[in-house]
Amino acid sequence: MDTRVEHLGTTTTAVEHVEVLIVGAGISGIGSAVHLQNNCPTRSYVVLEAQAGYGGTWRTHRYPGVRSDSDLYTFGYRFKPWTSAPIASGAEIQKYLGEVIDDHHLERHIRFEHHVESAEWSSDEQRWTVRARRTDTGASVQWSANFLWMCQGYYRHDRGYTPEWPGIDRFKGPVVHPQTWPEDLDYRDKRVVIIGSGATAATLAPAIANDCAHVTVLQRSPTYYWSGENRNELADQLRDLEIPEEWIHEIVRRSNLKNLHDLTQLTFDEPDFAKESLIELVRAALPDGYDVERHFTPRYRPWRQRLAFVPDGDLFKDIAAGRASMVTDEIDSFSEQGIVLKSGEELYADIIVTATGFNLSVLGDIAFSIDGAPLDLAETVTYRGMMFTGVPNLVWIFGYFRASWTLRVDLIGDFVCRLLRHMDELGVTRVTPQLRREDEAAPVLGWLDPEDFNPGYMMRSMDLMPHRLDRPEWQLSQDYWSERDLLPLADLDDGCLRYG
Ligand SMILES: Cc1cc2nc3c(=O)[nH]c(=O)nc-3n(C[C@H](O)[C@H](O)[C@H](O)COP(=O)(O)OP(=O)(O)OC[C@H]3O[C@@H](n4cnc5c(N)ncnc54)[C@H](O)[C@@H]3O)c2cc1C
Repeated sequence: MDTRVEHLGTTTTAVEHVEVLIVGAGISGIGSAVHLQNNCPTRSYVVLEAQAGYGGTWRTHRYPGVRSDSDLYTFGYRFKPWTSAPIASGAEIQKYLGEVIDDHHLERHIRFEHHVESAEWSSDEQRWTVRARRTDTGASVQWSANFLWMCQGYYRHDRGYTPEWPGIDRFKGPVVHPQTWPEDLDYRDKRVVIIGSGATAATLAPAIANDCAHVTVLQRSPTYYWSGENRNELADQLRDLEIPEEWIHEIVRRSNLKNLHDLTQLTFDEPDFAKESLIELVRAALPDGYDVERHFTPRYRPWRQRLAFVPDGDLFKDIAAGRASMVTDEIDSFSEQGIVLKSGEELYADIIVTATGFNLSVLGDIAFSIDGAPLDLAETVTYRGMMFTGVPNLVWIFGYFRASWTLRVDLIGDFVCRLLRHMDELGVTRVTPQLRREDEAAPVLGWLDPEDFNPGYMMRSMDLMPHRLDRPEWQLSQDYWSERDLLPLADLDDGCLRYG
């Protein structure tokens, strides 16, 4: 790391220089730092993180019961064995990430409370200048870097998404978003209505059902759930045989990936059968005569949105015991004592939880510019869902939705290190994706194909996202299984990447 001094108006600021600057210390940023450190050990780097601690999603979300819905054998990194039950609480994931930081001595590279606000690329200097605001002191600090590794996730951490409903201010009780759950919220013996039925609602409802007077999950339309025990039989057997944890991690990871692949394939090859099978699982967990058709039969093909996992069927047990109930209807308005539904029914509540999703954040809402011109990412085309046409020396981690996000962190970690070494071999300092002549006539499409995957927070903000073309070099693959084989072989000299 070297330091230069820059004069900004009347103030003099020290600008520290690193070869690689990582934004974000969530699961992507921590994993990327390990890959960089292991595979490019001589490169100087820093991780700038807006929050006062690491973990990203797992630090921000503190609602009762917060947990993964992926198994940690695949949501964990390939280099750090997972040794507990497959579905993990937010606290367990935080602990795992803390151990990774300790194991690899990352703490000296991470700067907490540094909110990155702008990044300017200068072709003359062949580097980025990054300005961050210290969230503890308000001071402005600057870094320069040859390469930006963007690990800032995909949503705004300060506030979740709540639709505008008529009369919401009329409601007398608290309206809470799970992303900003008040630590002192007293839900004991209260009637709680959770709006939304995605993974968050499926987690939160059973976590509070025993303490509340009643929990109602209010959904506009049903979601797919799948359910099973929160244990991995294969892992348990291997542990009984005293197999080393590194082996167990790798074997169980491969087994889980195969199972997930088979399930995903089934949803494409035989969607009706996959749909029926998922619904049957739910039906079997609910009392006879329960209206599964109304509350648990989605209108879309499985996997167009994330499948929410219900470990040990906890949500269904609470429904069966009468502690929780589902309501499938639309909100007309809020009243003083609850929610008036379009059917005319009124749901009485003491607390309303809006589990209605995220506000998308594109590249951490950072103001990017290139040689003085503001960058509009929506005008770019993505190179393999990680780089962008006309944007030099920048990689963005955007993980998988149908498989664990982190699988892509590992793959991109390998890719970036290979790219950096390739640049060294070529003796160049800049790499910029650029369409080849044969790409120029291709139709320019949206970031995701809504027929394939269409979660609300992406659909609401697709106009902010980069574009894709109809070929693998120029789109985000959501297929881990093919990317795992193809990305390590991607030709860095096929003309998509221009060096200088
Ligand atoms: C409750 C919940 C459960 C989930 N469960 C799963 C699951 O089981 N499996 C799965 O695959 N996915 C899951 N996801 C998706 C999950 O977000 C990702 O898998 C993963 O945690 C994202 O990690 P990340 O590091 O890329 O981003 P984040 O976790 O969002 O972390 C990004 C970090 O970057 C920081 N940052 C952002 N902008 C800036 C800036 N401008 N300057 C400085 N720092 C910045 C943020 O403060 C944050 O710490 C879940 C999401 C939620 C909300």
